[in-house]
Amino acid sequence: RFSQAIDSPTVAAEAHWHGFTQMASYQPLAIERAEGCWLHTTDGRKLFDGVSSLWCNVHGHNHPVINEAIVDQLHRVAHVTSLGMSAATTDRLAERLVDISPGDLSHVFFSCDGSSAVEAALKMAFQYWQQCDDPQPQKNSFLALSQAYHGDTTGAVSLGGIKYFHQLFAPILFSPIRGPRPCTYRLPDTIDAEQACDFYAGEIETLLQEHHQSLAALVMEPLVQGAAGMITHPVGLLQKIRQLCDQYNVLLICDEVATGFGRTGKLFACEHESVTPDILCLGKGLTGGYLPMAATLARPHLYEAFLGELSELKQFFHGHTFGGNPLAAAAALASIDLIEQDGLVDAADAKATRLRSRIADQVADHANVGSIRGRGLMIGIELVADRDTKQPFDSADAIGHQVCQAAIDRGVWIRPLSDVVIVMPPLVASDQELDDLADVVAQSIEAVL
Ligand code: PLP
Repeated sequence: RFSQAIDSPTVAAEAHWHGFTQMASYQPLAIERAEGCWLHTTDGRKLFDGVSSLWCNVHGHNHPVINEAIVDQLHRVAHVTSLGMSAATTDRLAERLVDISPGDLSHVFFSCDGSSAVEAALKMAFQYWQQCDDPQPQKNSFLALSQAYHGDTTGAVSLGGIKYFHQLFAPILFSPIRGPRPCTYRLPDTIDAEQACDFYAGEIETLLQEHHQSLAALVMEPLVQGAAGMITHPVGLLQKIRQLCDQYNVLLICDEVATGFGRTGKLFACEHESVTPDILCLGKGLTGGYLPMAATLARPHLYEAFLGELSELKQFFHGHTFGGNPLAAAAALASIDLIEQDGLVDAADAKATRLRSRIADQVADHANVGSIRGRGLMIGIELVADRDTKQPFDSADAIGHQVCQAAIDRGVWIRPLSDVVIVMPPLVASDQELDDLADVVAQSIEAVL
């Protein structure tokens, strides 16, 4: 049933407007089917999915167990609302997420994509301070890190701090208090990781001291700021931020849309530093990357602030038509089972070490490779014009784009973030596939630079 090629894919592709893509120079690339970590194009090419289909695919494509779970659910019910009723499968997923998530996160609010999970978190934190036992309605602003990325809806873009993605929209956004960009690469070499951690924690403490009375929450991507180019925080920073949030009575929202479900070598990145956020945002890998679903998890004190008599109007004033969709919930339950059964989280560290050292063996000393960084299977290779001064390339040269194009020509699909080449394969990639991926990435850098 896969053999029927789509007629004239180039013509069909013209109707489709892509995100973050200059359509004037877009070369149509249509995927007809996919199997494991491989994408098969309508024009007969085969590409390795080196960024897990925008960082979400966990088990490879067309996995029989996830397919079957979705089909089975389809024969029960494809969709019912999560406003005032729910699909039994979605309830089971909520319970499962509570079981596997860190600490005492106890309740799950479902939405459809990572951005919406963050929007729900913002409104949840705001409404919490209006109606908790000790209401503080003036707590209505947020602290976000520099170069943060939390999605593309308006609230999430307000939190965001990436020039090209976010600055344009400033007139229609709210302004958060802006924290540091905890990137050790551009600190002087004389500063070690512990000093870097203290330095950034100190900067955040200064902001909390000044603004805590108006702050509802601090929002951050724990450990790795993916879209900023895999900015990797110094070890211990997350734990220090947790302590500071407690000290200054500010909620901590961790956005694990990208880091969740095994990418960093733990099921959730927060586990690396034994941290439980007050609110946890999940998306992408939640369904193994199969169907759109996201979740916003809250701790008991958050949830309980929304309970009361109907007349008190304390319910959470937020909800999406397709939030908690049962087909997606069935895929998520199957994916979580597979992650456990296949030991994917335990295996992620060894795979990451293999991939990263094979890339480093070939290009770590290259004159234009500034940094190879990340946690687990989230890897970024920053390309710079001058390795000694860390001087970036002129953005007009689009070096990252050129390197990724060279990889596509060699059969690997990767996408850059400016001049950071992102490598983020599905967790199931085999050793051979990881080696081949590393070789193509290295060859592509050599081919362009
Ligand atoms: N938060 C983080 C940390 C992300 O990396 C992303 C997407 O890349 C999002 C939120 C937004 O998720 P979505 O694209 O599903 O809306």
